[in-house]
Amino acid sequence: MPDLNKLCVHTITTKPWDFATACEKYAEAGVKGITIWRDAIEGIDSEQVKGLLKKHDLTLVSYCRGGFFPAVDEKKRQEAIADNIRMVEEAAAIGAPMIVLVCGADPKQSLETSRNQIVAGIEATLKVAEKYNVKLAIEPLHPMYAGDRSAVNDLKTATEMVEKINHPLVGVAVDVYHLWWDPHLEEEIYRCGMTDKLFAFHICDWKVPTTDMLLDRGLMGEGCIDVPRIRSWVEHAGFNGFNEVEIFSNAYWEMPQEEFLEKIIEGYKNHS
Ligand code: ZN
Repeated sequence: MPDLNKLCVHTITTKPWDFATACEKYAEAGVKGITIWRDAIEGIDSEQVKGLLKKHDLTLVSYCRGGFFPAVDEKKRQEAIADNIRMVEEAAAIGAPMIVLVCGADPKQSLETSRNQIVAGIEATLKVAEKYNVKLAIEPLHPMYAGDRSAVNDLKTATEMVEKINHPLVGVAVDVYHLWWDPHLEEEIYRCGMTDKLFAFHICDWKVPTTDMLLDRGLMGEGCIDVPRIRSWVEHAGFNGFNEVEIFSNAYWEMPQEEFLEKIIEGYKNHS
């Protein structure tokens, strides 16, 4: 069983709850960590965000999500960099130690060009990230998203990108939903961990059949991902951070969220 003190929930997982409610309910249920999605705190003052985290004794694990660097259009690339810089400043204001990057892709250009633009975008953002000591985690996305959401689609590519950038603030977020299928996952997790580049670990499950490419993620234990096995690799690689539950699901968002949170904790205890 995973350590209950290392359970973190992404605010988007319980999307129907506003931020204050999510903090309260997570704390009541014994959840210790929270990853904040940007839209969850839109319009809320950063001091108020910090106050709620403190009141409920929640550790802020990450701020989601930056990236989306590639574009054929130069102006759009500059706008993306400016937006990522704003996001670093927001992260610093609420006390988030890390931003997760969904790197992006533009279907009008090659994946290779998009990858080069991702590296350039991260390097441009780093100047501000250094100022505030905010980490940037590249999250490789499942290849089904290669067309428009991410040109980084496996752990090897992500780790090589991180090695190329070669900066202590840049690492990788491993999400089981995106990477479970990779026959080289175990060795790539060890390779990534060897240089302390494994910054985050996201969990959920892959439902069969999956009815929506984005919004049909499953609870741990209801799909085909062996989460405990992947977690054992990640821990063997030296990772000792939070296990972050990140589930986008129209079906679960329709359910009373208290009930859903109970299921999350059960899935965490028994299938993670
Ligand atoms: Zn993730």
